[in-house]
Amino acid sequence: MLTIDGAHGEGGGQILRTALSLAAVLQRPVRIERIRAERPKPGLRPQHLTAVRAIAAICGATLAGDQVGSSELIFTPGHVPRPGDYTFDVSQTAGTGSAGAVSLILQTVLIPLALAEGPSRLVLRGGTHVPWSPPFHYLAHVYLPSLARMGVTVEMRLERWGWYPRGGGEVVVHLPGHARLCPWEFTRRGELCRVWGISAASRLPAHVRQRQAQQARARLRDAGVTVEMSEIDAPSVGPGTCVFLCAEHEEIAAGFAAYGRRGLPAEQVADAAVDAFLAYESREGAADPYLADQLVLPLALVGGALTTTEVTRHLVTNIWVAEQFLGPRFTLEGQEGTEGLLRCSS
Ligand code: ATP
Repeated sequence: MLTIDGAHGEGGGQILRTALSLAAVLQRPVRIERIRAERPKPGLRPQHLTAVRAIAAICGATLAGDQVGSSELIFTPGHVPRPGDYTFDVSQTAGTGSAGAVSLILQTVLIPLALAEGPSRLVLRGGTHVPWSPPFHYLAHVYLPSLARMGVTVEMRLERWGWYPRGGGEVVVHLPGHARLCPWEFTRRGELCRVWGISAASRLPAHVRQRQAQQARARLRDAGVTVEMSEIDAPSVGPGTCVFLCAEHEEIAAGFAAYGRRGLPAEQVADAAVDAFLAYESREGAADPYLADQLVLPLALVGGALTTTEVTRHLVTNIWVAEQFLGPRFTLEGQEGTEGLLRCSS
């Protein structure tokens, strides 16, 4: 059995998710120790446990240590990932409302189900737009188009928004299955074709989303960028607000999200998203810093390359996890915080 140190490098939940996806695809038992050891609330949180149970359901795995708070998990797959209709709900795992990110549950099961021998339909319930995870719009407009280049097509629909802390969002995902992953080089962006954004808010006065949108338009106009901004009154059980900007280049898309909270002026939410977009545009790498770490899993399975505007600890750590399963296959030029070039031989 392969043992993975969950406290290595970034030491977060991503080590667990990448390890479980690989264990499912490769049909390899894995023990993950010291899960999220350095985090303020270490061990499995409801969001992580939902991902664990999701991938276990898909490949008939036996589990040991699958409780909230557990710092060690043993995962033994029973069969190859099986397509089907699945519902995964973070609040059921938590026993209360929870904004655990549905995108991180999807991150765990997506490649295994895409490669499965048939179509699947997933209903995911929890947070759809929460800090420290890809919002729905990032998955739909940045991550999935990149995966499509590698031969994986997925459709996603947002039924209801879920914000921190109440969650209650819902996303429906259709995967045709039978994907044949092919290598891809995400090394060029090409020209900037279009910049668009959303300013969304739920259960808050209309001026919040209006001010966010106005500020994003004004800041981008000052930077010489034309943006198509939509304002959305988003259906949700709880209040929340965000700005999401998407930069569509010829070869790749990049996405930048920022969230509101009590006491934070709407203009500053827009500023945070605009600053992240401008930082990306001021550099040359193709993948934004989030996409880079999220592409490690498919690249590890078939090979390819990417350039990124920023090497992050998430990226370096995810490479490490993949190499624990597959052996050395990545070369990375660039240091944490600088632009990087990642190559992977299959
Ligand atoms: P932790 O153990 O820190 O609580 P976690 O399970 O919430 O961890 P991380 O290990 O931090 O998750 O991984 C977060 C994932 O979400 C990474 O793949 C990262 O790229 C992605 N991510 C975070 N913020 C964004 C964002 N604004 N846009 C897109 N993706 C994001």
